[in-house]
Amino acid sequence: MQINNHFAIGLILASITHYYFEFTLLEFSMICIFSFLCDFDVIFTKYARDLNHRNLFTHSIIPSIFIIIVGALITWPALTISGVSYFLHIMVDTFDWGTNLFYFGHYNIGLRLLITKEEQENLEIYLDQYKNRASFFDFKRYKNKLWILLSIIIFILMMIVVSIYALEYFYLLIFYFIGLAFHLQRHFHLKKIENS
Ligand SMILES: [Zn+2]
Repeated sequence: MQINNHFAIGLILASITHYYFEFTLLEFSMICIFSFLCDFDVIFTKYARDLNHRNLFTHSIIPSIFIIIVGALITWPALTISGVSYFLHIMVDTFDWGTNLFYFGHYNIGLRLLITKEEQENLEIYLDQYKNRASFFDFKRYKNKLWILLSIIIFILMMIVVSIYALEYFYLLIFYFIGLAFHLQRHFHLKKIENS
């Protein structure tokens, strides 16, 4: 999933649980940050198997479970929910391209809805069709109607849930749009490269 969608899911989770725990701004933000933080592991891509950041330890369920346990032990709900937020990120990632869920098995696990078996087996051939190899993944995403529909549903759900449960933190929505703008400009940039 893209960073704005991960953020939206984190914001939904933070808002609903805020109703019960009345988080401070810092705690509330922490839950939102944990929903997308692990995607910054892209800076360590060169250390990842197959140069895929989702094969890194940070994209397994292990860190999130550790955070949930620590949060429960020190009885800090905001940390526990942050761990859940992180856990949801990893789960959501299994739907589009899959992720190295259990790390030690080193298998990319998930429904991997955006890629066919045929494309997986001949990935290099597909990637070579593009000037920038990232275009393959980017275009597959934007051409997928189910993915677009899902993104819209997540967006609407986020707006409703924040309005009901966490109106005082409504302004944090700005980060959703920053994430969206980042991905859209990347998409159009790649489109321009491929069409040139
Ligand atoms: Zn991810």
